[in-house]
Amino acid sequence: MTMSVCTETVRERPSDLLLIHAAELATCSSAPRRHAGHDSDGPLCGAAMRDIGIIRDGAIAVRSGVIVDVGTTPEVLSREPSGDASGAPGATQVIDASGRTVFPGFVDAHTHLVYAGERYREHVMRLGGAKYLDILAAGGGILSTLTSTRSASLTELVAGAMKRLDTMLLHGTTTVEAKSGYGLDIDTELRQLQAAKLASEAHPVDVVSTFMGAHAVPPEFKGDSEGYLDFVLSEALPAVAEQGIAEFCDVFCEEGVFSVEQSRQALRAGIEHGLRPKIHADEIFPIGGASLAAELGAVSADHLAAASSEGIRSLARAGVVAVLLPATVFTLMSEAYADARGMIDAGVAVALATDFNPGTSPTMSMSFVITLACLQMRMTPAEAVCAATRNAAWAIGRGDRAGTIQVGRDADFIVCDVPAVDALPFSVGVNPVRDVVKRGVRVVKSAGGGGLLCRSRI
Ligand SMILES: [Zn+2]
Repeated sequence: MTMSVCTETVRERPSDLLLIHAAELATCSSAPRRHAGHDSDGPLCGAAMRDIGIIRDGAIAVRSGVIVDVGTTPEVLSREPSGDASGAPGATQVIDASGRTVFPGFVDAHTHLVYAGERYREHVMRLGGAKYLDILAAGGGILSTLTSTRSASLTELVAGAMKRLDTMLLHGTTTVEAKSGYGLDIDTELRQLQAAKLASEAHPVDVVSTFMGAHAVPPEFKGDSEGYLDFVLSEALPAVAEQGIAEFCDVFCEEGVFSVEQSRQALRAGIEHGLRPKIHADEIFPIGGASLAAELGAVSADHLAAASSEGIRSLARAGVVAVLLPATVFTLMSEAYADARGMIDAGVAVALATDFNPGTSPTMSMSFVITLACLQMRMTPAEAVCAATRNAAWAIGRGDRAGTIQVGRDADFIVCDVPAVDALPFSVGVNPVRDVVKRGVRVVKSAGGGGLLCRSRI
């Protein structure tokens, strides 16, 4: 839908929903701008991440789930046709955001949403000094999630995902990426992806699916990563591709998991089957995952806590979005946060995500991730907001619909109980999100003891 069509439409009939008087409205729709009919849209890179197009006393008009006008409150009201003879705005629903700040709905670009079983005991073990191998020996780690997920029915997996999507929505996430990779056999991998699809069809939050058969080597392969990868590429991947239930493929490229060469092989096979590549890269050791992402033109490279400066430069050159996951570093009680400042200075488009999973990052809160991005990685509040919305949407192929507040985009936005963008990272330990609008419908409402209003797809 073009801007002129939308502006014309708003003049004919009142909007369905009007949001007015936002103390600050972070549109995240700044440069790169459209030029003379040529759409040069994309993530914001480097220093451009600090210009998130803030409008004071901001307003949004919505019709049929789509944003039809954005500006200051006087501007938007002057363009809004009155609904009756009194001249008052005719919109059926008005949200007064006075004293609060409005952002695009958060986009959580990296999660392991669908699984069964819990692993909180491991966190307690870690407090007592247990290391990864101790936890594994005690029956914990990824293999415990593997066992629980393999024995869970589709119904159970969908129910678990729906419950988590409720929590995410209450915390302002309106679009989420979800990976398979807790099955590591054909049936369970397919069941995880089917659960994500069914949850997406049933819930207001949009779920974008990634096939991650190359997440770990399952016990039946007894450490034979070559043999397992061969199974993934010759049997599991074709089965996933045939069902058309994943958009992206991903691989855990790490010392002791899958090598750079194996990861190259896995992602190339994914591309041949129509899946766009993503990669868990350089999380612990700088083995060259970032450079591989650049070589393959991956849509994103994720983690990157140990990425080399050459790896970072290659991401900037290739236009690969760097998805940083500080909540994982925090949960593992590590100091090794990714070099967000170095990446932004090198001109990389940085995004943020929770990495939500039961073992190493049990948070579903993007505002908490924004807090960590600022307090631990020294990102500015504006950079962190851009990273959690617009750039995250580009990291999962949704940049043309989500992540910004601009005419023609899905009306996905949130009202936070903070007086300015700069205040958002300092809502430590509380949920600042008061209202959530998904495709033009208010699905979370703060007033009158409201809370979650809608659990159905819109
Ligand atoms: Zn992950």
